[in-house]
Amino acid sequence: MMMTTTDEIIYLDNNATTQLDPAVIEEMLPFLTKYYGNPSSGYALAAKVRTAVDLARERLAALLGCEASEIVFTSCGTESNNAVINSALQFEPRGKHIVTSAVEHSAILRPCQDLAKRGCEVTFLGVDQDGNVDLGELEAAIRPETAIVSLMWANNETGVLFPVEKIAEMCREKGVIFHTDAVQAAGKIPIRLRDTAINFLSLSAHKFHGPKGVGALYVNRRTRFYPSIVGGGQENGRRGGTENVALITGLGKAAERAAESLSEEETRVRAMRDRFEKTILEAVSGASVNGAGAKRLPNTSSVSFDGIESPAALLLLDRHHICCSAGSACRTGSQEASHVLRAMNPKGDGARRSLRFSFGRFNSDAQVDRAIEIVPKVIEKLRQLSSPVQGSALSSVATAP
Ligand code: PLP
Repeated sequence: MMMTTTDEIIYLDNNATTQLDPAVIEEMLPFLTKYYGNPSSGYALAAKVRTAVDLARERLAALLGCEASEIVFTSCGTESNNAVINSALQFEPRGKHIVTSAVEHSAILRPCQDLAKRGCEVTFLGVDQDGNVDLGELEAAIRPETAIVSLMWANNETGVLFPVEKIAEMCREKGVIFHTDAVQAAGKIPIRLRDTAINFLSLSAHKFHGPKGVGALYVNRRTRFYPSIVGGGQENGRRGGTENVALITGLGKAAERAAESLSEEETRVRAMRDRFEKTILEAVSGASVNGAGAKRLPNTSSVSFDGIESPAALLLLDRHHICCSAGSACRTGSQEASHVLRAMNPKGDGARRSLRFSFGRFNSDAQVDRAIEIVPKVIEKLRQLSSPVQGSALSSVATAP
């Protein structure tokens, strides 16, 4: 049995969620203790709280290159995505058709699949083996009755980037609303919405060192939006419910920190990811990077290893305190192989033998060194265990002391 030399957790699952930035905690605390007023109330205590929400809106608008008035705070990326799809169908009288892709996160796929069961037509565009969509195919899929095109900016499993700015232009020319799920892109790559034709964008604070349970939706000021959650007139009538002030201030601070760290993401985080990827590919035979030929996020590495099963690999890596995932965190524990990797290579079995490593601001070079040391050993061990004599690697790993 391999021994770990340290008990330190090596967290390489930053696409699942991220560690809270200490500056974010500090920003949030007074709004959980001292400043508990309702931002809609009239007295000074509430004004202080209202100002904090306004500041968070401005900070997020600065990260996204848009107006503060175009930001609607929500409870998460999933809510933002659902709200956009619902709005497009409510508003668009001709809207009986949605265009999206087969590799979206379940927070888009599920609402679209549910709508398809209720009679709405949905086109799920396929991708090539690098995870790219074909823009000609996309253009051909748009019909007069298309209510919305929704395509993710960055894929959560592979990090593959869709050219959403170009796609948004194409949609504008065709008079169709365009939404992008930017939950994995926001805070990791530069975004300047005022230079684009994007109508809606979703994001989530916990993917860029903010708190869980708070997200935002960018609603372009010229785009009509029909709210899903109605009640009080909060968020300028676009999302009812008393604002979750502490989490919103946390999101705002996380956005400010992300804006300051964008160049670090592009240099230090990318260098860690590239070094890890290069070394693993050299050290392990039968390893390949999913989406290697596409433009990708600087922090994500999805690697497929011949002769392993990802659940067994995750189990062994966890014993060495390395946190990563097989596909999206939401699918961990399910027997279903990644829909993203299956869409990229329907005939192959890469979806069953891939691991996603995602790096972030709080990872160190020493942690990358450790991962580079452990991962090849784990893969080798699994290949030995799954040799015909040994049987299933998963059961061997699970029963090993
Ligand atoms: N969209 C993408 C691409 C994601 O990666 C995630 C989270 O993993 C979501 C949406 C959902 O975000 P949230 O966890 O805030 O609901």
